[in-house]
Amino acid sequence: MLERLLEKKIFSKKDIVFLLNLYKKDDLEKLYKKADEIRKLYCGDEVHLRGIIEISNICEQNCLYCGLRCSNKNLIRYKMSSQEIIAAGKKILKAGIKTIILQSGENKNIKREEISEIIYELKSYGDCAITLSLGERDFIDYAEWRKAGAERYLLKHETASRALYSLYHPGENLIDRIKHLRMLKILRYQIGSGNLIGLPQQTLEDIADDILLCDKLDIDMGSFSPLIPPNGYPLKSHAAKISELTLKVIAAARIVLKKIHIPVTTALSSIDPDARERGLNAGGNVIMINFTPNPYNSNYIIYPNRRVVSDQSAIINLLSLTAKLGRHISESKGNSPKLRSSAS
Ligand code: SF4
Repeated sequence: MLERLLEKKIFSKKDIVFLLNLYKKDDLEKLYKKADEIRKLYCGDEVHLRGIIEISNICEQNCLYCGLRCSNKNLIRYKMSSQEIIAAGKKILKAGIKTIILQSGENKNIKREEISEIIYELKSYGDCAITLSLGERDFIDYAEWRKAGAERYLLKHETASRALYSLYHPGENLIDRIKHLRMLKILRYQIGSGNLIGLPQQTLEDIADDILLCDKLDIDMGSFSPLIPPNGYPLKSHAAKISELTLKVIAAARIVLKKIHIPVTTALSSIDPDARERGLNAGGNVIMINFTPNPYNSNYIIYPNRRVVSDQSAIINLLSLTAKLGRHISESKGNSPKLRSSAS
């Protein structure tokens, strides 16, 4: 039955739930092997590196699972200056990485013009792609940043369940989040979305809906990452369970969505020391490397015990890991596999 299901071209919600329910070693091996074959067929053997700069940890939202939520008073808040952001961006380009991600909490005080100038500056310094991950903003902001040269926008839908979305995002709703993703699509951004895995009350059906929503939104990048609970929670048993489930979600997403980029997230690496190798073998093809300078880096605490993958030594480790897997680090900007110019 599993073999037949893995050969399907179109997957129903029931099919995806079936894949997420697998637990026998042999079946999991078949699932990951199929995901790896599909990754190779649609995306090749390249592993794409992204340099991320967490430009501010100030956030106006209050997502219950996130350490940056505005109600968290136990966090030293920061906003990097334009000069600091540009310097960190140049460091990414000098390291040979051609995608810069600018990420922050949702903060309307980050001015549209400032981000536009940073984009202009970085694009004129080197041949690179800019991904923005700045939360929900006005259409005019998205449009100006696109005009300034940003090509990609990451805005995770977090959960496709309307009820869970409203529960974990007080005052917000899923329909609005989807509207923003559609706006970004209209502006011809390459869009990234994805979910959180392990939310209390979340079911495998909800996760299957996450993958189907990504399909409906025609995303270019899908980020499927585990929820890391607050300090005090018995993390060890949670980590083993949730990291395996996350790998299954990555594999199922690869099998269903095929031609997208899928990162092995820092969150997964934070609970599973072998996450990068396991994730790259289960359909993943992107790794993020953190270039947020100190002291800011240690205050971007979206979840506890975050394992930050940073600097040149991380790149050297990845070179040997990708060689071991018969893969290689991409020298391109790693545009969406859905674009014809993906080699550029
Ligand atoms: S998930 Fe994003 S929007 Fe929500 S509190 Fe955290 S940084 Fe803010």
